[in-house]
Amino acid sequence: MKKILVTGGAGFLGSNLCERLINDGNDVICLDNYYTGSKKNIKHLLNHPNFELVRHDVTHSFFAEVDEIYNLACPASPPHYQYNPIKTIKTSVLGAINSLGLAKRVKAKILLASTSEVYGDPEIHPQPETYWGNVNPIGLRSCYDEGKRCAESLFINYQKEHDLKIKIVRIFNTYGPNMNPFDGRVVSNFIVQSLKNEDITVYGKGNQTRSFQYVDDLVEGMIRMMNSRDDFYGPVNIGNPDEFTILELAEKIIGLTSSKSKITFMPLPQDDPMQRKPDISLAKKELKVWEPNIKLEEGLLKTIEYFKTVI
Ligand code: NAD
Ligand code: UDP
Repeated sequence: MKKILVTGGAGFLGSNLCERLINDGNDVICLDNYYTGSKKNIKHLLNHPNFELVRHDVTHSFFAEVDEIYNLACPASPPHYQYNPIKTIKTSVLGAINSLGLAKRVKAKILLASTSEVYGDPEIHPQPETYWGNVNPIGLRSCYDEGKRCAESLFINYQKEHDLKIKIVRIFNTYGPNMNPFDGRVVSNFIVQSLKNEDITVYGKGNQTRSFQYVDDLVEGMIRMMNSRDDFYGPVNIGNPDEFTILELAEKIIGLTSSKSKITFMPLPQDDPMQRKPDISLAKKELKVWEPNIKLEEGLLKTIEYFKTVI
């Protein structure tokens, strides 16, 4: 039985990951300060003998004897990470330093949940891991983008300096059960608006694109990355390459919920990337033939059922 620490374990992705790791027979410590996550997401695990919950902020050091660390703690939705940008940077950077320090002390393998945001508003499409990105270092999104870029640098340098077993995944837009219905991300916003027959808020003309991945495909990819060969550090893109415009997403969700909602257009936020689609050739090669299995419509239907129970 492996002892595994998941930072940010009460969040959307963290709670799905904790559940899978418990079901696979591991001993899991879920660490969270509930900044954007919630105990509700992991309440069904609380009585499990192999699950422990710790309230802690990753900007402070933490000690536990573990074999593996999944470092996920960080707000991920633009309104949440922009609410307190300095805290977001501290969480990414100090959180990475503290988690790496722990990995070094207890000789644990450690995975960083990085992001497609390291590519910024990409000029290369789709984005391979070799692309260095187009990030505005002083823009509204920089607290998140640059925080994650710095965390990637910390991970690579801890590997080089201290021979740490590191893994970096760059996650592309992921959705599914346990998303906070009010976190302001596009999938949660559109589903909640549709279920309430409220206006669907498309920012800009809605011709910007995103590639949406269902959470189970991501969790599978992260675990495969953790178990990949020792000298494969990444970064590796984990996402679903099926690309949609935001307008297409709005129309799809209205259709799947049989909603009476109308689409309304609002200003595009500053530095909003125009296109995003992962090149997943590296993941397919290194993660033992991993590829996403769940199509957008199937994933949206599961997510809509979840949102019906929480709003
Ligand atoms: P989320 O906001 O639902 O979860 C983040 C969790 O981290 C929350 O439970 C929050 O309370 C916790 N947290 C935040 N600051 C903390 C701190 N200082 N100390 C301890 N805990 C803290 O977001 P998510 O979608 O689950 O994202 C999880 C990770 O995956 C993040 O690192 C995010 O950058 C990355 N990621 C997510 C996506 C996506 O589409 N969901 C895409 C790219 C990267
Ligand atoms: N978006 C939108 N309406 C919303 C929320 C988001 O049109 O109510 C757009 C947003 O401008 C962006 C895309 O949807 O172009 C994805 O936004 P999200 O915040 O989910 O993720 P990110 O921009 O980080 O990919």
